[in-house]
Amino acid sequence: MKLNRYGAVVVSIAFTFFISACSSLGLNIFSDADEVALGANVASEIAADPREYPVFRGDPSIKQYINDRIFNHILAAKSVQKRSIYTYQLEIIDRPDILNAFALPGGRVYVYTGLLKYLDTEAALAGVIGHEIAHAERRHATKRMTTQYGTAMLISLVLGDNPNKYVEIAANLFAGLSLLANSRSDEDESDKFSIDYLKDTRYYPGGVKFFFEKLRDDGKVSTASGGLETFLSTHPDPVARITTTDQRLKEIGKEVFSYKNYAGQGVFRDEYKRNILDKLN
Ligand SMILES: [Zn+2]
Repeated sequence: MKLNRYGAVVVSIAFTFFISACSSLGLNIFSDADEVALGANVASEIAADPREYPVFRGDPSIKQYINDRIFNHILAAKSVQKRSIYTYQLEIIDRPDILNAFALPGGRVYVYTGLLKYLDTEAALAGVIGHEIAHAERRHATKRMTTQYGTAMLISLVLGDNPNKYVEIAANLFAGLSLLANSRSDEDESDKFSIDYLKDTRYYPGGVKFFFEKLRDDGKVSTASGGLETFLSTHPDPVARITTTDQRLKEIGKEVFSYKNYAGQGVFRDEYKRNILDKLN
């Protein structure tokens, strides 16, 4: 398609309306195939930056265990819908200084060794992984990109000759503009879906809040050390999220426990220590 300058302006205005309509309706200009392509593109950028994202090269049984026992187990939950469409995959990044995890569009989930060392139960890790899977399933990154950058991308798509440019531009935006930082409403939705997924697993469905409770109890919510800054910048409001999770647990008839006093089944503290913590050190 060839457009003159006047045509481009008209297209630009039309797209601006289109995009604002999309965002108000919660629509997404990306297809599921785009999600997968975009995720693969960003994953190769991550793989090409071992200084920032060093792959964990310690005991391989740790990743195997988390994959088989937790990651794939959660993916089998009823309400996970895109397990056969997305390229769900777990990666461990060897950064003991970072208490964080993130997901790429299309299903890759990255967990930092700092987070693995900080957590102390399988339920807590399952809660975090469920939360990250929800970011992918609910397509939070591309919905945000639709709202914020859709116009620029669509104009480039129309004006450019190379259809791959679409994914390339999206990947650059994703990497360059801190799009890993999710909005509060996306964080809240992912917490909610984590509960929903974990309901169908061997894990206590409130596992997602165990991490926040431990941060609170360790007095780490108000401090701003290096790793924590990273975490809090992408996962705001830890204390409010504990309260909201407790309310949701009550609504589905589950008892409310903290990670400290949990007496029932579904936490797997010993298993976490034996199969993950002890092997990390
Ligand atoms: Zn999140």
